[in-house]
Amino acid sequence: MAELLPVADARAAVLAEVAGTLPEEPVPLAEALGRVLACDVVSSEDVPGWDNSAMDGFALRAADTAGAGEGRPVKLRLTGESRAGDPFASAVGHSEAVRISTGAVVPEGADAVVRVEDTDKYAGGPLGGSDDEVEIRVEVGQGNDIRRAGDDVRRGDTVLRAGAELGPAELGVLASVGIGSPDCARRPTVAVVSTGDELLAPDEPMRAGGVRNSNAYTLPALARLAGSEVVSVERCADDFEATRAAVANAAESDVAIFCGGVSVGDHDHVKGAFAAHGFEERFWGVALRPGKPTWFGVRDGTLAFGLPGNPVSAFVTFVFFVRPAIRALQGARPDLDRVDATLAAEVPRMERRDQAVRCTLKGSSGGWIATPTGPQGSHILTSMVGADCLAVIEAGSEPATAGTKVSVQLLAVASGS
Ligand code: AMP
Ligand code: MG
Repeated sequence: MAELLPVADARAAVLAEVAGTLPEEPVPLAEALGRVLACDVVSSEDVPGWDNSAMDGFALRAADTAGAGEGRPVKLRLTGESRAGDPFASAVGHSEAVRISTGAVVPEGADAVVRVEDTDKYAGGPLGGSDDEVEIRVEVGQGNDIRRAGDDVRRGDTVLRAGAELGPAELGVLASVGIGSPDCARRPTVAVVSTGDELLAPDEPMRAGGVRNSNAYTLPALARLAGSEVVSVERCADDFEATRAAVANAAESDVAIFCGGVSVGDHDHVKGAFAAHGFEERFWGVALRPGKPTWFGVRDGTLAFGLPGNPVSAFVTFVFFVRPAIRALQGARPDLDRVDATLAAEVPRMERRDQAVRCTLKGSSGGWIATPTGPQGSHILTSMVGADCLAVIEAGSEPATAGTKVSVQLLAVASGS
């Protein structure tokens, strides 16, 4: 392993190989959660489409309520009803009112709504009245309790930009402007291969030296959450021919992710197998703990990652290097947010490598507090459980004491972002 590459340079080297966004395809809205918009969306409709009522009540002319108050109502003639989806067919005239439901179209002639609570309309009410009359007990101005057409979106407004990730709010907005199948970038296909003679599936009997193949679950899950379509998950022995065959299959995907077998041992065949298939190495060895023996190569637009086998190393290197690639291939911003936080406990620094420390994140009056989840060995996968972020402890000689400001990489999408 030559000089270790700084994390930022390795990430940049990966993104430099993302030639562009994958081609777009229409995606039915009901299946579009997590997809990334391929183009700006311009609304061809006003939302709401019509002036409509904010309340259940009566549509009328504001001028007719002049002087109304408690004990001195004005009496208006009821001429009909405007219901949601079933507007009143004619106009509201002087001294007239139309019963109106929330969201129903404000009829022509009316310029205000009075909510039902400020009226009496039943025969035998305190001030009299009958079924075709309503008594208004408040004076209202023009526009009272009317929501204007286009209040939310105006025709011609750009409601979402290319690169937007479709969450619940975005899906709702697309529906509200009448788009049932937004054009989204195709999802990158991903193949995951775990290498190692020792690996056992969760339901295989344990044997001497056996190691459960946890990466076969964490890596595909991370890949899906990053927006990709995982097309194969395979296990491969520590054998050159087997690894070569696995590379041949994985190279059909946009992104090939191998884990384990990427170090310098006699049984590490991943780099050689990629080379045998014409992949060009872009880097091997990153100044990161965990995650030093990370390999990245390319061939004809296929991105290939050789991640370290240790479960935490595989997880962390996925977050720093693979996730940005999968997101960028869809035209999304490569990284999830980074925020500044204060370390709650001391972390010894490494002289030459940044460290990614699994932390929980809690808000305080002084900002975010990052608390390490416990022992941080690269084999301690439970340290990822409950972690909200990776706190980046930059290389250096002095320990990062409690109270040190650090940049933390969020692991999941923050709600609202
Ligand atoms: P390697 O990178 O192949 O040298 O593996 C480093 C360590 O990670 C070894 O202890 C492996 O047993 C373990 N390991 C490798 N692959 C996996 C995997 N898919 N799931 C869990 N542990 C693994
Ligand atoms: Mg191995």
